[in-house]
Amino acid sequence: MIRVRKWGEVTGFLMGRSMGPYVPYTVHAFLVGDTLFDTGAVHAHREFMNALAGRCITTIVNTHHHEDHIGNNAMIRRVFGAVAYAREEALPFIADPVRIGLRLYQRVVWGCPDPSRAAPLGDSIELSDRVFRVIHTPGHSPDHACLLEPNEGWLFTGDLFCGKTIRYLRRDEDFPLILSSLKRLFPLDFSTIFCGLKGRVENGREALGAKIGFMEDLQARVMDLHRKGYPPREIRTRILGREGAMHYLSAAHFSKQHVIDSILAQEDTPPGDALK
Ligand SMILES: [Zn+2]
Repeated sequence: MIRVRKWGEVTGFLMGRSMGPYVPYTVHAFLVGDTLFDTGAVHAHREFMNALAGRCITTIVNTHHHEDHIGNNAMIRRVFGAVAYAREEALPFIADPVRIGLRLYQRVVWGCPDPSRAAPLGDSIELSDRVFRVIHTPGHSPDHACLLEPNEGWLFTGDLFCGKTIRYLRRDEDFPLILSSLKRLFPLDFSTIFCGLKGRVENGREALGAKIGFMEDLQARVMDLHRKGYPPREIRTRILGREGAMHYLSAAHFSKQHVIDSILAQEDTPPGDALK
């Protein structure tokens, strides 16, 4: 499945693997001039390459190394002769995607990328006559970067933003670090977010501020129950409810419990004794 949408100078490609009438997870790649921001998933390669036919692509910028963001790097490099860039920590995974350690559901939904080469991103990069600032934003993954074009007010956020709320985390995500990275972005000069999950998000600053507020409130509620002595599973049930389909489909790689555990892992505060 692929859907192509044009927002001024930014073209968005929403893609995912069709399973009968269902497309269980989707992701966006974006094209600005002759630069692709992320390359989607291997399992969508036919539709994606058809959508890119006739275009000129000289450069790939990967926001991070996950398989649904580097999936078509190798093919686009081969077909278009494009050069790829990512933060230095991502390069070993792009060169050898087996190192990502994909789980079964990830192989089924996205597929394993072919190995390819990329060069390290610096603090800024000139792309299609525009200068993009590269901001290190760990939390979703250690190598995650966001890219800012201040003249247009564009902020490409990869998988960092992903909507105004948060109910699930991957096992390897870090809630406090995500929050800290979002706070680093907030004062920057942007108005529109281009998000791997949500596509174009207008009023991006307000949306990002809402996400920060949601996460701070969630963190405070978790810590309040923790201080009162509630165990982590009880805190999860009270605040986020029971685990849902995402938990079971991903074999617990995504989980509401990870949200609670990640918040508590950063805190030294011992539990209170209200329930003892
Ligand atoms: Zn990701």
